[in-house]
Order: sequence, then structure tokens, then C-alpha cells
Amino acid sequence: MWWASHAFAIPFVSGLIYNWVISTKGYKMPNWCYNTLTIQGPKAEIDYIKDRLNSPFTLAQETYGMGDISSMGFPTKIQQVTYSNPVFAFFNIHSYKDDGITDEEYACQPTRSGADMKDPNWFAQEVAHAKTQKDWYSWNNSNWGTKWDVAVRDEDEYPNTELIEYKSEGDDNWLVYKYETAWSPAVTILTKLSNLVPNSLLTLEYEEETGWGGELEIVRGDVKEIMEYETRCYACQSFDCVEYCENDCGEFCSECSQGSWQDEEAMAKCQTHSVLLTPSRKKES
Ligand SMILES: [Zn+2]
Ligand SMILES: [Zn+2]
Repeated sequence: MWWASHAFAIPFVSGLIYNWVISTKGYKMPNWCYNTLTIQGPKAEIDYIKDRLNSPFTLAQETYGMGDISSMGFPTKIQQVTYSNPVFAFFNIHSYKDDGITDEEYACQPTRSGADMKDPNWFAQEVAHAKTQKDWYSWNNSNWGTKWDVAVRDEDEYPNTELIEYKSEGDDNWLVYKYETAWSPAVTILTKLSNLVPNSLLTLEYEEETGWGGELEIVRGDVKEIMEYETRCYACQSFDCVEYCENDCGEFCSECSQGSWQDEEAMAKCQTHSVLLTPSRKKES
């Protein structure tokens, strides 16, 4: 019943809240957000930022091994992870090292504020607490707007982060990156990126895996929302026209009638959608 999670699609802002709720209860794989970022501007800024984003670096990471006992109760040690060709790295925009945080402080498990979840202000208290913490999870969420970097690791054979276009010629200078972030489009770190290239325009198109998404423009740290949608039809690309059938037979686009998912048995009994189950349509699909 994957539609159950789809029906409760997490809107843009509450993604972070959901992340916190889940992470206080245990570990869960994140919902991925697919991003396409275009940076357009003067040649000097485009060349500068391309090199900066791809600068090699190492960072500290806690790993299982015979070291100290972590706050979670298992033995851990600190490992240095190398990124020789990171392509696009949040680390290269703002890192814990820039803030004078040590490897030992960064590579450890997050602590909680201890706020009572029944308290209406518990989430604000958690966020305020996280902002004072130096562990990777709290620091990344506070400073990047997401918990994981998108940088390509040395041993990563099939990276999801790519530079898909680079042009630097006269007045036509741009970079286009594709990358995937956990839970949210990580706008916080992009506002910092835009301040590094003050004469360039950043355009972010994002879509979260349950279907919501949008487009933003960022100049000198100012974020302008161009559009936002809750659903997009994969067949005809129309926005916000995918509707869940009240007879539980599927989810269909009101523009082109394609189903993003459908239950053919239930469709046969549905007055509205049984008509879509014609032999000719079956052949098409
Ligand atoms: Zn459609
Ligand atoms: Zn129906």
C-alpha cells in the first residue's frame, strides 16, 4: 500500500519536521528530492564556482570500529573520507572546518534537547538545540538545510551528482548540476552559494519522490518562489491535476486520464474509471 504514504505527501516545509519526528523514533530511509540547479552569470564567477565546488577535500566520519563507545552504545572510531573529485559539494560552500569545529566534535552522534514531544513548542526547542550542536547531523541540518552532502566520494561508482552542462564563452556562461538531497531541496546552503557568486542567477528545479516540487530563483541570498506544485502528471506534465479516485481505484490525471497508479480490479467496479479499461487502452500500455 505505497499510496498510503503518497496520500500523506509531506509538504515542502514540514519535510524537516517529519525528518526530526522520524529520527527521534529510529532510523528510516529518507524520501529523496531530485534537484536540477542552473547557475548563470559572468564568466569569472562561473569558472570560479565550478572549481571551488569541485575542490578536493577530506572530512571526518564516525565509523564502526575499535575506538570509543559512542552515545548509541557501540564502539566507534573516526575515519577520514576523501573526495578527490566531488563535482558539487555543500562542504565546499560551507564546512564545519570553516566554523572551527574539530573532527572529534563533528564525527559523533547527535544529542536531543530532551524536549517533551507533547509540548507544542518541542520542535522549535529541538531546532534551537541543534543550532548550538557541533555533531554532523545537527550542524548539516542547521547550515545546509539537509543532513547529507551531495559530493561524489572516491569509491562511488554510480554517483547521483553530476555536472550535466558547462558553458563558458563570451556572454553565455552557465553550469547545470543534478543531485539528490534527503527530504528537502536544501535551500539554506544554496543561499550561501549564491552569495559567493553575487552577479549570478541560481535557478533550482526540484521534485520530491512522492510528487511535490517547484522552482526557485536565488540571487545574493534572496529566494524567490517561481512555482510550487503538489503533483505533476508524468504522462502530460500538467501540474496539480492528479486526483485520487473516491472509489479507491487509482490516481488519475484530469487532463489526460493517465493513472499514476491504478487497481484494475477496483477500476472495473468504478463508474468513472471502468471506461478506461478498454482493450485498446490495454494494448497501448
Ligand atoms: Zn496528464
Ligand atoms: Zn475510480
